Amino acid sequence: MSQSVLQMDKAKLDKLMAHYAAFNVVRNAPGVVFAAKLPDVAITAYKSGKVLFQGGGALREAANWGTIDTPTPKKPHAKGETLPERFSELSVLGSDETGTGDFFGPVTVAACFVSSDQIELVRELGVKDSKQLTDDWMRQIAPDLQAALVHSVLTLPNEKYNEVQASGWSQGKIKALLHNQALKHVLRKLNGEKPDYILIDQFAERGIYYNHIKSEPEIVRENVLFSTKAEGLHIAVAAASIIARVAFLEEMDRLSAIAGVRLPKGAGKVVDEAAAKILLKSGEATLKSMTKWHFANAQKAKKIAAMKNKHL
Ligand code: MN
Repeated sequence: MSQSVLQMDKAKLDKLMAHYAAFNVVRNAPGVVFAAKLPDVAITAYKSGKVLFQGGGALREAANWGTIDTPTPKKPHAKGETLPERFSELSVLGSDETGTGDFFGPVTVAACFVSSDQIELVRELGVKDSKQLTDDWMRQIAPDLQAALVHSVLTLPNEKYNEVQASGWSQGKIKALLHNQALKHVLRKLNGEKPDYILIDQFAERGIYYNHIKSEPEIVRENVLFSTKAEGLHIAVAAASIIARVAFLEEMDRLSAIAGVRLPKGAGKVVDEAAAKILLKSGEATLKSMTKWHFANAQKAKKIAAMKNKHL
């Protein structure tokens, strides 16, 4: 589908709304201030002053209102498969995970579908490359994303993580199984509507990924692409990444309440210290239940706790 985006000030936007008043349609989407439907163009105006023209007559209609700024997305330095042209404008189901490098907290995976005509809306809701977004901002916009987009989000609690890890599963396998499951859920919810492509934020090469999930009863394979930095290649992955991140933060909130301290992210010294404190206060079983126990942080925390005990 052809589409153009223009940025307008209030005066121009008022003019546009008056001009297309006869074609006005109601569109109850967040951030939308005006929508019109012509025989070959759909026009959507957003609170931010962005106006989206979609359909066969998009260029013709948009040209009446200003110079068209076709956004040329900066190609991030991504490693992975070659994507089709104008990939960022297609209907894509994207997936991403969070929490794999954090001693505390779960692994979460989200998959999220953004159709080509939802791309502007998702941008309007505040989605950018999630690596540029703060946790607070992501918490704010995640509910809108979840309401607007077909998605699936999975949280693997630490107890389950530790159990499958101890049974020999690698993190790669854990992630692959969760991605496959989340993608499957979304495809099911889409009820026959097919994304142009599925894009997985790459954590393993295609062959390794499919080897991890080879025993699964249902394997998502059709039109699947892999790339690193995929959140910069399609907004569906950026949205998935935000939804996964917020699920991780929410579980961290829950675990922090149980621990009685704010659990730090990552796997650094601060994490060792916090873990030692929990160990002394609540014991090993409690600490284990909120961490990825195979990380080196567990042994470091035990050492710190033993030293502190000696000095008591
Ligand atoms: Mn990722």
